Amino acid sequence: MSDTTTPPASLAPTDYLAALNEAQREAVTYGVATGEVAGPLLVIAGAGTGKTNTLAHRVAHLLVHGVQPDALLLLTFSRRAADEMTRRVQRIVAQVSPRLATLASGGFAWSGTFHGVGARLLREYAGRIGLDPAFTIHDREDSGDLMNLVRHELGLSSKAKRFPLKGTCLAIYSAAVNTQSPLVEVLQSSFPWCAEWEADLKALFRAYVEAKQAQQVLDYDDLLLYWAQMAAEPAIARELGARFTHVLVDEYQDTNRLQAGILLSIKPDGRGLTVVGDDAQSIYSFRGATVRNILDFPALFEPAAMRVTLARNYRSTPPILDAANRVIGEAGECFSKNLWSARTGTQKPLLVSVRDDADQAAFVVEQILARREGGVRLKSQAVLFRTSHHSLRVEIELTRRNIPFVKFGGLKFLEAAHVKDLLAILRWSQNLRDRVSGFRAMQLLHGMGPKTAARILDNLQTAPPGAALLAEQPVPDGMRAAWDEFARLVESAGAPGAPWPMTAEQVAQWYEAQMERLYEDAAVRLADIQQLARLASTYPGRERFLTELTLDPPEVTSDQPGVPLLDEDYLILSTIHSAKGREWSAVSVLNVVDGCIPSEMSTGTEAEIEEERRLLYVAMTRAKDHLELLLPQRFYVTGQSSTGDRHVYAGRTRFIPNRLLDCFEGRSWPCVDADAGPVMSVAQARIDIAAKMRAMWQ
Ligand code: ATP
Ligand code: MG
Repeated sequence: MSDTTTPPASLAPTDYLAALNEAQREAVTYGVATGEVAGPLLVIAGAGTGKTNTLAHRVAHLLVHGVQPDALLLLTFSRRAADEMTRRVQRIVAQVSPRLATLASGGFAWSGTFHGVGARLLREYAGRIGLDPAFTIHDREDSGDLMNLVRHELGLSSKAKRFPLKGTCLAIYSAAVNTQSPLVEVLQSSFPWCAEWEADLKALFRAYVEAKQAQQVLDYDDLLLYWAQMAAEPAIARELGARFTHVLVDEYQDTNRLQAGILLSIKPDGRGLTVVGDDAQSIYSFRGATVRNILDFPALFEPAAMRVTLARNYRSTPPILDAANRVIGEAGECFSKNLWSARTGTQKPLLVSVRDDADQAAFVVEQILARREGGVRLKSQAVLFRTSHHSLRVEIELTRRNIPFVKFGGLKFLEAAHVKDLLAILRWSQNLRDRVSGFRAMQLLHGMGPKTAARILDNLQTAPPGAALLAEQPVPDGMRAAWDEFARLVESAGAPGAPWPMTAEQVAQWYEAQMERLYEDAAVRLADIQQLARLASTYPGRERFLTELTLDPPEVTSDQPGVPLLDEDYLILSTIHSAKGREWSAVSVLNVVDGCIPSEMSTGTEAEIEEERRLLYVAMTRAKDHLELLLPQRFYVTGQSSTGDRHVYAGRTRFIPNRLLDCFEGRSWPCVDADAGPVMSVAQARIDIAAKMRAMWQ
C-alpha cells in the first residue's frame, strides 16, 4: 500500500490519527475497532519511516479502545526506548481525554527489554518453576568471574596448551544459548580456533550451569532461556497469553531465536502480536540475533501475518537519504530500500579527508561549535563511531575546550569498581549463596583475605537455609568487631521487608567509610556512590533496583571527564550500536575507513561484512540535517595486534566505492583556499604559537 499524508475526511484535524500517513494509519488501527484481538501484524520498513512512532500510536489507539495498560506487553531495545515510548503514548492519549491521560499517567507495568521483563516474570513465577524468587542476576563481568572460577576448579586453566580465556568461554556459551545451536556448530562457525576443546568446553559449561544453580544466580542469557523454558510449559504459556492480550515489539530485526520462541509460545496463533523492524538495520548477529526472525514472521501463521510497509522517511533531508539508500543499495538482497523524503535541504553529506586522529578531532569539534553558534544545540548533535575507543581523541579535545558530553556504549557506570562493590553487598544480602558477590563484598573489609572469604562461602553453601548466622562465621581475631558490624549490616539489609531505600543508604554509609582505604581517588568515586543512593530511592524496592541496574545500567560515571549536569546542554558520543533508533540534527561519523568500518575484526565472512555495511547505514540514517563522514588517512591502533600500538594508513571504507561519490561532497581539511590563504587547523595554530614563543628566546 502506498503512503500519503492526507487524513481521511472522517477524521477531525486534531485527531491523533490525522498526523499519520495512510500506511502508518493502517498499521495503527489494524483490527483494533473490531472488538476482537487482531491477528499478527508486521511493520517492516527502512530507517526513519516512523516505525517506532507507529507502534506508540498503536498502543495509544488500543488504550482509546479500552485495553488496560497492564494487559500490554511492550518490548523495546533499551529501557530508555521504553521510557520514550511511554512518554509518546502519554502525549497522544492526553489529547484524547483527561480520563485516558490519567489511565496512562502511571506508565506501563510491563514495558522494557526482553531481559528486564523476563527477570520480573521469572521472579513472579519462580515458585512454579522451581526457582528461588530471591535469585540474583550476574552481569557479564560477574559471569566471567564465575566461569573463571569453574574453569580453574576443573583444572582447565593449567592445561599445557592454553585453554580459551574466560571471556571467550563465556562468548561461546552465550552464542550457543542465544542461537539455540549445538556447541559443535557454534565452534565451527564462529570459534574454529577453539574447536579442539569441544569436550572440555562441554564439561566446563555443565559445571558452570551447576554452579549457577547451586548459588541461585542467573546470568543475562538465563533470563531469556528460563523465560523460554517457562513459556514452553503450556499452562503458563496460556496464562501469559491471556494476561497480555497485546504484545508489541520494536526493533524486531535484532531479536534472537529464544526471543522469537518466547513470543510464539505466548501467542501461538499470533493474535495480539505486533512486531516492527527493518532488516537493513540488523546489527546484533554477534549476540545471536537473526534477521530470519523478521523475514520469516509472516509465514509463521495461517493465515499469514498482515504486513505493512512504509516508504516515506520523515527524518532526513533528501541528499542524506539518497546517500544512505545508495550505500544500502549495494547490499545483496535487502527488503527495505529506496525510501523517499518530502523534507527540504540540498546539502549533500560531507566526506571529509583529514590527516589523522588529531585533525579528525579538531575538525569535528570545530564543526560542532560552529553549528552551536548557528543555533543547533549540543544535544541535537552526535558523534558516532564503530568502537568505543575510537572517540578517545575527540573526548580529549572536548574536555580541553570544556564542552560537556555524554558517552553511550563506552564505560558503563556498573563497570566502575566502586559501583560494583556497593552492588555486591546489596546482591549478597539478597542471596548469601551468590559466591561472586559474596567474595567481592567480604574482601572490602580490612583484614579479610580470599581464603577466609572462600571458607565462609563454603559454610554458607552447605548450611540449611536460615541456619547459617553470618556473625558466627570464623574470622581472624583482629577483625571480629568489624566483621560483626558488617554481618549485622548484611543480615538486616537482607531481611524480608527491609525498608527501602533506607537499606541502600545504610549500605552506602558503611561503604563510604571504607572508601578512603580502598581507593586513592575516593573523593571522585564518592559522587557515584551518592548518585547510586539517590537512584535507589527512585525504585520501589531492592529487587527492582538491582535487576534494572544490572540489565540496563546508567552509562556514565563521574570519573569520566566532561560529564555534565543533566539539565545542561551536552553533546552525545555514541557507538553506532547504541545509537539505534535515535536521531540528531547533525551527525559526525568517525573513522569511515576500512579497518574501522568494516572493523578489521569483522572481515572474516561475507555475512560479517554485510553486517558492517548495515552498521554504516544505521549511522548515516541517524542524521536529520547534517551528516559528515570522516576519513583520517592515518589512525592509531591501540594494543590490538601482537606488535602493540601502531599507526595504520587507511583508505575510504569499501562501502563507499567510487560510483557512489556523486552523492557526497568531498572536502579535505585542513584545506588551502587560493583566495583566503591557508586555513589553519587548531593543531597547527597551537604549534605556530609555540614556535613564536620559542623564537622569543633565540
Ligand atoms: P528507526 O528505523 O531509526 O528506528 P523509525 O522508523 O522508528 O526509525 P521514528 O523514530 O518513529 O522512525 O520516526 C522518525 C522521525 O519521523 C521522528 O522524528 C518522528 O517524529 C517523525 N515522524 C514519523 N512519522 C511521522 C508523521 N506521520 N508525520 C510527521 N513526522 C513523523
Ligand atoms: Mg525506531
